[in-house]
Amino acid sequence: MNKAFKFRIYPSDTQKTLIHMTIGHNRFLWNKMLEEKQKHYELNKTILYNRPAQYKENYPWLKDIDSLSLANTQLNLEKAFRQFFSRKQDIPKFHSKKQDYGYTTNLVNNNIVLKKGFIKLPKLGEVKIKQHRTIPNEMTLKGVTVSKTSTGKYYVSILCEYQKEIKKQVVKDSIGLDFSMTHFYVDHQGFKLDYPTDIQTDFKKLRILQRSLSRRIKGSSNYNKKVLDIALLHERIRHKRDDFIHKLSYAITKRYDLVSVESLNLIEMSKTNPYYAKQVSRFGWARFVSCLKYKLEKEGKTLVMMDKWYPSSKLCSECGEIHTELKLSNRMFECPNCNTNLDRDHNAAININKEGLRQYKLAFE
Ligand SMILES: [Zn+2]
Repeated sequence: MNKAFKFRIYPSDTQKTLIHMTIGHNRFLWNKMLEEKQKHYELNKTILYNRPAQYKENYPWLKDIDSLSLANTQLNLEKAFRQFFSRKQDIPKFHSKKQDYGYTTNLVNNNIVLKKGFIKLPKLGEVKIKQHRTIPNEMTLKGVTVSKTSTGKYYVSILCEYQKEIKKQVVKDSIGLDFSMTHFYVDHQGFKLDYPTDIQTDFKKLRILQRSLSRRIKGSSNYNKKVLDIALLHERIRHKRDDFIHKLSYAITKRYDLVSVESLNLIEMSKTNPYYAKQVSRFGWARFVSCLKYKLEKEGKTLVMMDKWYPSSKLCSECGEIHTELKLSNRMFECPNCNTNLDRDHNAAININKEGLRQYKLAFE
């Protein structure tokens, strides 16, 4: 299993310059390789397998930075492009200077060493680190991601690997979750979890700031101040959201052995219902599901994701009738066959829970 530990680092000015350069060169490589992959895809409808070495000849300065980082950028791009190719994700985006990015390097021949107060990294040498917790001895270090936020902070995320014997848990308690437009989720017992209100408020503040930014003169000191305010707010939202997601997935994992969720196709959804798609991606729905899956599997528990064709909303949870006339605007599910009258999302969550249990029994019992 893998676990990542994130710590803040305090690089010297020279080290900062080198970090910027490494991130910049990796961004350049990502964009260059992506551009060629895209062109190739448009012409041949196949994946182009390009390598960093091909670019080092034309752009020799790429050799100045940690070469493992370039290899990782290539691997990440390859993965993202294959996801796109198998229609699981949108086409990878070009990286811009405005966003927070980092670079990843791997442990090879003691090139990364953690010491008291310092971390030794390839090319950078010893960087001051604030290590607020120790990494257990049984864990082996695999790699490090160095990142810089747009608010000027530097971090390392240390990826470790460890062995753990996982015993499959017997399913005693299960839960089905339906993601709804008005709530973060509704479960099969009809419990509705709201979107965190303070994050909603932050999004409103963000909109006000962005509007006021559009009225400033680009490059003026007022403009730059607003840009920093926006970055700080984005950072705060991200922290709050991650905190919300972690606590929630932790609580669910503790309580349940089997969690069933619907599958969401954000690309499809943004076409039919852009507001909903935005709401879902804002609150990190996909992140929540992957966090939940990871936590459950670590405990020998299971996450079942519905097939995207599973009609969780249109199925009557009482009699199994398919209600084809149900519209997106119908908030209640009224069964034309058995007269069951239930909140639409509650009905869907019951179906998801039942279907998850059925699939689980098929696979494991
Ligand atoms: Zn019915």
